[in-house]
Amino acid sequence: MTSSSPEIAVVGAGIAGASAAYRLSELGFKSRVYEAGGRPGGRMAATVINEAIFDHGAQFFTTRGHKFRSAVDTAAADGAVKVWTHGFDEPPDGYERWRGVPDMTALASWLLSKADAMVHFAQPVDHLKNLNASAIVLTPPIPLSLALAQRSNLEPPEKLLNELRNVEYKRTIAVLFPLEEHPESLPSHGGIQFLDDPALAFITDNAAKGVSDAPAVTVHLSNDASLALWNEPDHQLTEFASKHLEANIGAFVSLGSVVKRWRYAGPVQVLEESAFVWGNRPFIAMAGEAFNGPKVEGAFDSGRYAAEKIAEFFS
Ligand SMILES: Cc1cc2nc3c(=O)[nH]c(=O)nc-3n(C[C@H](O)[C@H](O)[C@H](O)COP(=O)(O)OP(=O)(O)OC[C@H]3O[C@@H](n4cnc5c(N)ncnc54)[C@H](O)[C@@H]3O)c2cc1C
Repeated sequence: MTSSSPEIAVVGAGIAGASAAYRLSELGFKSRVYEAGGRPGGRMAATVINEAIFDHGAQFFTTRGHKFRSAVDTAAADGAVKVWTHGFDEPPDGYERWRGVPDMTALASWLLSKADAMVHFAQPVDHLKNLNASAIVLTPPIPLSLALAQRSNLEPPEKLLNELRNVEYKRTIAVLFPLEEHPESLPSHGGIQFLDDPALAFITDNAAKGVSDAPAVTVHLSNDASLALWNEPDHQLTEFASKHLEANIGAFVSLGSVVKRWRYAGPVQVLEESAFVWGNRPFIAMAGEAFNGPKVEGAFDSGRYAAEKIAEFFS
C-alpha cells in the first residue's frame, strides 16, 4: 500500500465484507480483509464430508435491486454463479433462485478476487486497535461486532448502541447426510422449501443441485424447531432430521451425519439504515444483513454502502 493510501480493514469475508472490499476497490481504495474462518462466504457456507459436498448455510439467493443484479451478472459471466431454479413449487413461480458455482461460497470468493484487497484467512480479530486502521468495516453478526467494538473501547454512540442491543437472531440447525445412494423422490432441481412447517425449513439434494457428485443431503430445521432443540445432543438432532427427511424422500441409508448450529441464522427484525457509522480514525462502519434488508442481497448492499461511507470519510 502506498503511504498516501488510508489503511482500511474489513472484518469478515462473508458477502457483506466481500462486497465492501469490492466496492472500496471500485472507488480506488485498497483494503485488508480479516476472516476468522478458513475460507470466504460466512453464512454462505459449504463443507465436505468424505466425497460428499454440502451447501449448509444459505441455499440460494435472489436479486431484486439493480446494484446486486449487476454484480451477479458479471459473476455469472465468469462462471461463479448461476440460476439454480425458477421456483421450488410445482408449477414454478418463474422467479430466479441463484446458487454459487461450485458452491455457495463462490460469490464472496469472486468479489474478493476482483477487489484490490489483501485477504487474511483464519485470522479472527479480537481487538480493533490491533488493526492499525484509519477506517474499519465490521461485518460479523451484530452481537459479535458490538462485543468487538466494546472490547476495543470503540463502542458506538448511545443511540446506535440501544438499537444494536435490540437486534435478535433466529437460529437454524443444519443436519448433513452423506447417503449411500442418490434419493429418487426429490424434485429434479433437488430443493424442497418449507414455508410454514413446524419441523423443517429446507431439504437440498446437493447432487441434484450440482454441488456434489456423491449423494449429499442438507436438512435445515425450522427456526422454531432449531430454537426448541438447540441444546439437544447431536444424535437426537440427527434422529429428528432423519425422521422428517424420510417422511419427505422415503427410506434412505446414510453413511453418517454432521450437525451444524447457526446461532445467528438471520435477524428477527432488520434495522432500517444501510449501515451504522461512527468514530474518527478509526472511522467505523458496521454492516451486514441485519441492516438494509435481510438475506444475501441485503448483506451485499449493506457492505457496499459501508464502503461508500468510508470513501466519503476520506474525501
Ligand atoms: C441456515 C441459513 C440459511 C439461509 N438461507 C438463505 C437463503 O436461502 N437466501 C438468502 O438470501 N439468505 C439466506 N441466509 C442468510 C444469508 O446467509 C445471510 O444474510 C448472509 O450470508 C449474511 O452475510 P454477512 O456477510 O452479513 O454475514 P456472515 O456471512 O455471517 O459474514 C460474517 C463473517 O465474519 C466472520 N467473523 C466473525 N467474527 C469475526 C472476527 N472476530 N474476526 C474476523 N472475522 C470474523 C465470520 O466468520 C463470517 O465469515 C441463510 C442463512 C443461514 C444461516
